[in-house]
Amino acid sequence: MTEVKSYVALIVQKYGGTSVADADRIKNVARRIAATKDKGNQVVVVVSAMGDTTDELIELAYRVAREPGGRELDVLLSTGEIVSSTVLAMALRDMGYKAISLSGAQAGIHTDSAHSQARIKKVESKRVVTELEKGNIVIVAGFQGVTGEMDVTTLGRGGSDITAVALAASLGASVCQIYTDVDGVYTADPRLVPDARPLVEISYEEMLELATYGAKVIHSRAVELGELYDMPILVVSSFTQNTGTLIHGGASMEVRNKVVGIARDLDVAKITIVGVPDRPGIAAAIFQPLAEAGISVDTIVQNASIDNITDLTFTVTKGDLAGAMRVVEPIAKLIEARECVSDSRLGKVSIIGTGMQNTPGYAARMFEVLSGQGINIQLITTSEIRITCIIDEARVEDAVRVLHRAFKLETGQ
Ligand code: ADP
Ligand code: ASP
Ligand code: MG
Repeated sequence: MTEVKSYVALIVQKYGGTSVADADRIKNVARRIAATKDKGNQVVVVVSAMGDTTDELIELAYRVAREPGGRELDVLLSTGEIVSSTVLAMALRDMGYKAISLSGAQAGIHTDSAHSQARIKKVESKRVVTELEKGNIVIVAGFQGVTGEMDVTTLGRGGSDITAVALAASLGASVCQIYTDVDGVYTADPRLVPDARPLVEISYEEMLELATYGAKVIHSRAVELGELYDMPILVVSSFTQNTGTLIHGGASMEVRNKVVGIARDLDVAKITIVGVPDRPGIAAAIFQPLAEAGISVDTIVQNASIDNITDLTFTVTKGDLAGAMRVVEPIAKLIEARECVSDSRLGKVSIIGTGMQNTPGYAARMFEVLSGQGINIQLITTSEIRITCIIDEARVEDAVRVLHRAFKLETGQ
């Protein structure tokens, strides 16, 4: 009788840097992958670089050059994921499994040419499919792609998550599993808030806000892709057998009618242009050149004008502050503003939850809790399901803990 091979499912698994930090952990990951394969699944695996490899490579680059960015840096950084993917394939073969490693380019990850922050234009998954059909476990180097000119690009820090969801979507996988060093998505960073609670499930929209505002457990662009292609994403630990958190679009969210989580971001700097003449065209004159310089501006606040003079404040990342000042200072002179001042010691704390939609009281409660701790709120931004306060960076961690308690997130009330 001929054997008919029927696969249970196609599963994409992504393992982060801590999960593949050394030889023992790589063998541990190989055993998990093998167990998934043994259940009859086809398995595509995306890996990050081992441990702190990417940081070390960046450090090396900056030891030899002041501005190592661009093409060469991307090739250098891509080697981290080449190492982990090849070594993982070797470990699986040693266990008797058929496995093959592919670089981003070989796996068909095509990007634009924005080095160090490239965006995926398309995934040509033919090679991956061929290898799966041959019975291989396919191990893809995360975080990297290739331009039309065959230059290697990287997708931005934490970008292996994006590779994983993009591949899962293009292959029509049944789930994209993100294996990391914590038991899923928590109500706040569990390293900061010891009684933070892992969520069973969370909606794409809430996860997108959490990730964009600092919860680095999954990359915001991976969540965006997940939502776009309706790809369920399971965030789960590679060290335990716990069930993890399902990010999906299902309607039966446990999290309606409350704050689901708290995020923090310490990478905030502020520029205020003082004494700006209040007339049409001024905002464009300031923000157009910033956009052209590739500086993304976050919160923008303009005060009510007095005698047609106003102050304009906006935030950028700390790394962009010097560049933004270089762009803005000459413009401020040109439009006869009084001066430009900056502050690079800021951070953001955000509360997020669909339950805040159309429900008054959350903002007031948040401000009351922060003021109760003597924390001064410098700027406030909101979306329908998020309230963010920009505060002194030194108080951000206190703010997260006290808000976590105030909104009773440890008990899920
Ligand atoms: P990986 O190397 O697996 O990609 P990351 O370091 O990028 O892992 O992300 C996992 C880390 O995200 C955790 O160790 C945790 O400290 C941090 N984190 C921040 N916010 C959250 C949150 N809300 N839930 C879970 N982890 C979080
Ligand atoms: N190795 C890359 C980084 O450290 C990508 C990733 O880990 O997802 O940013
Ligand atoms: Mg990560």
